[in-house]
Amino acid sequence: MTTASFDTLGLAPQILKALAEFGYTTPTPIQAQAIPLVLEGRDLMAGAQTGTGKTAAFVLPLLQKLLPLASSSTSPARHPVRALILTPTRELAIQVEESVKVYAKHTALSSLVVFGGVDIKTQTPHLKTGVEILVATPGRLLDHIEQKTINLSQVQMLVLDEADRMLDMGFMPDLKRILALLPKQRQNLMFSATFSNEIKKLSDDFLTNPTLIEVARSNATSDNVTQKVYHVVQADKQALLIQILKNKYNNVNVSQVIIFTKTKLTASRLSRALEKEGIAADAIHGDKSQQERMAALVAFKAGKITTLVATDVAARGLDISDLPMVINYEIPSAPEDYVHRIGRTGRAGASGAAISLVSPDEEKYLVEIEKLIKHVITKEEAVIEKSANSYKSETKSPKEYGARESSHRVNRNDSSKQNDGNVRTPRYKVAHDPWFDKPYEPSNSAIKPVNPTRLMSKSKARVAALLGGFKKTD
Ligand code: AMP
Repeated sequence: MTTASFDTLGLAPQILKALAEFGYTTPTPIQAQAIPLVLEGRDLMAGAQTGTGKTAAFVLPLLQKLLPLASSSTSPARHPVRALILTPTRELAIQVEESVKVYAKHTALSSLVVFGGVDIKTQTPHLKTGVEILVATPGRLLDHIEQKTINLSQVQMLVLDEADRMLDMGFMPDLKRILALLPKQRQNLMFSATFSNEIKKLSDDFLTNPTLIEVARSNATSDNVTQKVYHVVQADKQALLIQILKNKYNNVNVSQVIIFTKTKLTASRLSRALEKEGIAADAIHGDKSQQERMAALVAFKAGKITTLVATDVAARGLDISDLPMVINYEIPSAPEDYVHRIGRTGRAGASGAAISLVSPDEEKYLVEIEKLIKHVITKEEAVIEKSANSYKSETKSPKEYGARESSHRVNRNDSSKQNDGNVRTPRYKVAHDPWFDKPYEPSNSAIKPVNPTRLMSKSKARVAALLGGFKKTD
């Protein structure tokens, strides 16, 4: 379905004005489908990934429905919470609320975001002034409910954004507690990038006769994203990554990239290792303070750092427009996470690249991913060029050897010396990386708020030279 303009969707002039100012002219498919249904008062189960315009698909009709209740009075009693938007992560909550503010700027509707990781007391005064639209992560919302700083008795619209991720993150008990506190008479909108049986069950439990809409095949990866797998033993991943990031790997060209790791620890260490290599990087994960996470995101969006190393949870919902590349340093064990990760690139019709560094131990996950996305990803054996000071890890691992041999073409005669003079690592080594075996000691730089200027001054010259697409911002 294509809708040429927002004007035909039944939105008020104040909302259309904000859209026009923001430069939106044409609704995306999910918006064209969802907006009329929400305005009719239907419950929705919508299958849409981040990047499809799903936020506006629920925020615009939600504003439209609340408009008659908007009040210019300063009395908090005139501004009860009427719409509750729940998101799995802080970053997504912040982004959704930013969108609400943009679209509601010409209305008298107000919004607030509450999430954990910051002092709850700082949120309470804002809540007391009254807000119609509350965006929250489940845990912090429950804290506020317990402290009686939030009253949800007037909620008439509920949005569960990225519901699949909320279930993955174990929010089901929290959701049940929250939903039990809401008025029974309300409209429910559920958005999910993937459709699992649990999601269907959640939809059966909480939605009333929902209309199902879907903009992309569920569990599909975007056609705009070129996917590639490099086979590489764990011990060589860092060296390969550095080669790629320095644009020294084949014709892979990197300007800005999000690198996914499985754990917070790996994210921290990898980001520091990249910084040591003169790559302007920072990590974004759950052990960082909210301030640090936001500073990293702001620096990345501004192009002050080129590389963001992130865990799934922290990166969920990040909307970074025009992100050209995603690298899976480790592929996820849950195949749905792969879909979410690579959904960070190739958004809104742009082209993107997704590179996965896959060790023999991870082959089993790759098989599951390919089953889910119904697509065989192009694979290549990685060739690592080792400089003199690169990490060494030379012991053969029969386990890795066997795992690789069973599933892939191998060249056993592969020599560690190529005739181009570059020393290349032997292919089969222990799945052991000296860097990652060190006990974790947070450095001062890891716990201090990120200072983009410091990062820039340290590495600017080298980064500018090494990363072709890098734009100077000062
Ligand atoms: P979302 O899926 O909500 O995360 O949105 C993805 C991106 O698309 C965001 O950067 C939005 O600002 C942008 N976007 C949403 N709706 C439109 C639209 N109708 N026209 C152009 N860009 C849009």
